[in-house]
Formats: sequence, C-alpha cells, structure tokens
Amino acid sequence: MAFTGWASDYVNLVLAVGRHDANFVDAYYGPEAWKVGAEAGAPRPLNALEAEAQRLLEGVAACEAPADEVLRRDYLLGQLGAVAAHLARLQGHRFTFADEAEALYQVRPSRIPEASLESALARLDQLLEGAGSVQDRYQQARKRILVPANRVDAVFQAAIAEARERTRRHTVLPTSDHFRVEYVTGKAWSAYNWYQGGGTSVIQVNLDLPIAIDRALDLAAHEGYPGHHVYNALLEQRFALAPPEGRGWVEFTVYPLFSPQSLIAEGTANFGIEVAFPGEDRVAFERDVLFPRAGLDPAEAERWARVQTEMKVLAFADNEAARGYLDGYLDRADAEAFLVRYSLRTEAQAAQRLRFIDTYRSYVINYNLGEQLVRDWVERQGGTVADPDRRWAIFVDLISSPRLPKALGL
Ligand SMILES: [Zn+2]
Repeated sequence: MAFTGWASDYVNLVLAVGRHDANFVDAYYGPEAWKVGAEAGAPRPLNALEAEAQRLLEGVAACEAPADEVLRRDYLLGQLGAVAAHLARLQGHRFTFADEAEALYQVRPSRIPEASLESALARLDQLLEGAGSVQDRYQQARKRILVPANRVDAVFQAAIAEARERTRRHTVLPTSDHFRVEYVTGKAWSAYNWYQGGGTSVIQVNLDLPIAIDRALDLAAHEGYPGHHVYNALLEQRFALAPPEGRGWVEFTVYPLFSPQSLIAEGTANFGIEVAFPGEDRVAFERDVLFPRAGLDPAEAERWARVQTEMKVLAFADNEAARGYLDGYLDRADAEAFLVRYSLRTEAQAAQRLRFIDTYRSYVINYNLGEQLVRDWVERQGGTVADPDRRWAIFVDLISSPRLPKALGL
C-alpha cells in the first residue's frame, strides 16, 4: 500500500500538466472527479507543478518497495522524471535531441552513420526495377500497392479481424474488448489509438495521404492487436482494476505521452506486427487475403515485402532528420530533403513527418529504437523466430508489466 498516495498525486500531476499541453495526456480512465478537479479554474503554474514533481520524486525514492513492487516503484520514478523534464521544456528549457530523448524516454539515441543508410539505399537500388532515381522507383512501386479509397475500410477490417484472432490465441483479452475505427483528416500522425478504458479503443486513421496496403497490417497490429490497444487493455486489467481482478494501481489509469512508457508502447506495437505476422506468414496473408480485397495484383506482395525489409534500416533516418532539425544544423527544407533522400518519402510525406517532428520532437526514436530494444530483449529471453510460442509469451509478459526501458537491462 506504500505507494498509493504517491500514485494518486502522480495521476493528478499528469492531469494538471495536461492543462498546459493538449498532447500530453494520451489516455485517462481513472476517477472522473480527478479529471473534473484538474479542469476546474485556472491551470496551476508550471513552476508549482515542477516543484510538485520533485516532491513526488523524492517521496517515491524514499519508499521501501516490497519485492513484488520494485518494478512499480521504478515505473513511478521513471514516469515522474519524464514529467519533470517535460515541465522544464514547457518553461522554455531547450534540450538537445539526445538529451531530450534520454530525459523523456530513458534511451540515448546514438547517431546513425550516413554510410549505413547509404548501403540500405544501394540494396534498394538493386531491388527496385525501372528507370529514374531510387526514390522515383520506390514511389512508382508504391503506387502499384495503393488501396483505392472505397476499399480502405474493408481491407483494414480484414487485417484487424486476423490480428485479433492471432492475438487471442496467446493472451486473455477483457470480455469487453472492442476496437472502433474512425477516418479523419488534417492530422500530423497517420493513425492514432485513443484508449478509452474498459477494454475499448477508438483508432483514428488519417486519410490526408493515399494509403498503401502495408499500412493495413501496420495499423491493425500496431494500433490494435497486439499493439497499443492490447497493451493498454492488459495494463488496465492486470494493474489498474481494483482487486481481485487487478491490483488497484491507480497510476496505470493515466498515460502521459512524453514518458518512458511510450518507448515500450511504440516499440512493442511495432515489434508486435512481427510477433503476430512473422516473415513469410505476413507475406502470405497480405498476398492471399488483403491484396485481393484491395483489388491489387497479389504478385506484388512478395516484391514489396523485400523492399520493406530494407526500409527497416531506413526507418532510423527519422532520428537523424529530427536530430539535425531540432539541434539546428538542418533547416526545415534540409530536413525534408534528408527524409526524401533517406526514407524515400514523397515531398508531401516528408512535410507531414516534419509537422510530426514539430509537435512530438524526439518521440520519433520510440518507433525505430523502441522496436529494436524490444526485439533484442524478447530474443535475449529466448523469444526468437524459431520459437514462436515463447516469443508470444515473452512479448505478452512485457506488455502486461510495468517495465520501462531501464528495466530492460539495456
Ligand atoms: Zn503507435
């Protein structure tokens, strides 16, 4: 019981910070009265909130943790540290890209040498047929797998149904488990999962730019099963709910976006795609089910899968674009050009990514570095491709635990 008071104060602090930054509170399903309280009157001043974060950090650090609550204490300390850093940011403190990532997500992203991006580009140059630059040929290939607008929902629903079915074989989801898709425009992200509590999520898909067919499984698995939706639902079920179902750990009813929890959330959501649809399995499902449903030529599925393997390396280009842009040695146009060159985005896609970086800044590391760190951790526990059942078990254990990046023993 030692942490209950601190945990309640932490939740109220996160809600109070949310008054200053509309992107901060990603999910909240704790006591309604706390939300009402946080929204009443004028926002509490930032320096008072920073002092409160320090008080909680010292209080939690001084608490004796029983053996089964050590991870819980480390979770609270990690989350509170990030709240304090975010408050410093809101008061005008400028972190470098790497310092900010470390303060918020507990990981210091090392620089990706341009040579490793160049060698992935060279392999893609071999793989992509036709004339023109590698960027042009990538975009031409991608045009062949765009889903016609009137088939997007049918393709997504098929992907979600399969991802859900596969996830249910390996974990017990709440009986109220439910996941609703909405289509929106004018957002800085391409899709977003809004966890509502009670085992339900609303996932929004941004239709500003055309949807390529590989987005279907990315969306179904990353946002849904076994990604964000399942992560949130398992934390609620296992920790947030009152005993006997859960443990009554109220800190899990709130999810501050700029916190180490996000590296675990994005890393497991990305790696979860591979856990649910490993290698050839993914190709087969896309080729046999999704491509026909989209009215696309299934012969493209295997070719595109090989291209996507190389794109995993180029995913790290986002970190270097964000680092250069935020640390001031790339201007906006340079950073967009960097993304066009190394992540093969169109100019419109690069501009959308820059808008994402404007808002979410070093958060971009959570996708690529998060995925790598989660994969390494799962494989170190024996959850390798060769042992899919163990891979699922270790993965499910991670998404239903309070572990933060530090607890992955990096
Ligand atoms: Zn995500």
